[in-house]
Amino acid sequence: MLLKRMADDGWFLLGDSAGVLDPSGSHGVLRAVMSARMAAQQALHGGSRAATAYHDWMCDWFAHDMAELRAAYREAGDFI
Ligand SMILES: Cc1cc2nc3c(=O)[nH]c(=O)nc-3n(C[C@H](O)[C@H](O)[C@H](O)COP(=O)(O)OP(=O)(O)OC[C@H]3O[C@@H](n4cnc5c(N)ncnc54)[C@H](O)[C@@H]3O)c2cc1C
Repeated sequence: MLLKRMADDGWFLLGDSAGVLDPSGSHGVLRAVMSARMAAQQALHGGSRAATAYHDWMCDWFAHDMAELRAAYREAGDFI
């Protein structure tokens, strides 16, 4: 489950509050830590594009992890 908007003027959603994938992806804790780091960096240095840059970065990461999960489940399905 992903939020449609993960950041906007004055706010960022971090970790699981931005989106949750199957825990078997095993990136939930890393995403919680890295999203906080990225949000802080964007808040300090991102200027007017901070929210968009953060949102796009999170969406790219989720898209990558979803593709990996789909491939893993497809592969696992071949053995069931
Ligand atoms: C079964 C299972 C296995 C998992 N295995 C892995 C794994 O192997 N590797 C991995 O990386 N990730 C794993 N995850 C995912 C990982 O646990 C989460 O992605 C990660 O904990 C998200 O961190 P977070 O800080 O965003 O949220 P959380 O860890 O959920 O922290 C949010 C905190 O906010 C508190 N809170 C909520 N509402 C309020 C409120 N109104 N006021 C005050 N406090 C509030 C909650 O009590 C909680 O302590 C697993 C998840 C599950 C369910």
